[in-house]
Amino acid sequence: MFRATIFTLMPEMFPGPLGTSLAGDALARGLWALETRNIRDHGLGRHRAVDDTPAGGGPGMVIRADVLAAALDAGIAADDPRPRLLMSPRGRPLTQARVRELVAGDGAIVVCGRFEGVDERVIAARHLEEISIGDYVLSGGEIAAMVLIDACVRLIPGVMGKFDSGSEESFENGLLEYPQYTRPRDWEGHAIPDVLLNGDHAKIAKWRREEAERLTKERRPDLGMKK
Ligand code: SAH
Repeated sequence: MFRATIFTLMPEMFPGPLGTSLAGDALARGLWALETRNIRDHGLGRHRAVDDTPAGGGPGMVIRADVLAAALDAGIAADDPRPRLLMSPRGRPLTQARVRELVAGDGAIVVCGRFEGVDERVIAARHLEEISIGDYVLSGGEIAAMVLIDACVRLIPGVMGKFDSGSEESFENGLLEYPQYTRPRDWEGHAIPDVLLNGDHAKIAKWRREEAERLTKERRPDLGMKK
């Protein structure tokens, strides 16, 4: 089963949106599991300090290597096979392919940064793989972790019902998805394309393929068309 273990300074943010809708129903049905570990439980002194000023100066605070390592060492069994991910704007951008890989495994251990991030030494020493959800900076890794987990959970068999595979969706074939329509047939003078209404499945498939290729070329030529 897909198990997510989140190391965070804000455990109260979970499950948050992951407790609602598709992901929440699946969580309640036991199709995946979520647990949080509060990094602050391993903080130092009476105030359970987790951060300190950056070596070399500069703004903000940095999560201490000793504190985060203590939290990780206490919270992860030595034989835990799950990848250890650190949400980070410097990480490799998350892709649908990486999401598929994660879903095929046992889940993920996800570390959420705060402040200016975490001491560089703990990233190497605890083999954390940095993952980014895009080229912008969030105030903490929690929402990024939720993005990653949401993308994984909807692909767990049984979560999406009959559309389980999601195999025609954006990014699955190096393409963006074709346009979708539903009733009413005519809306504010705009009709649904005829081809979608005459029941010729080969023609529909061809039209969708062409539209997907057109949109991808227009909007995301970087995705690279796989034929
Ligand atoms: N000083 C850092 C940004 C810290 S933001 C820098 O310039 O790179 C605080 C935390 O938010 C990070 O440690 C990370 O866990 C999370 N975060 C911010 N932006 C993110 C992104 N695009 N993807 C994933 N995590 C992100």
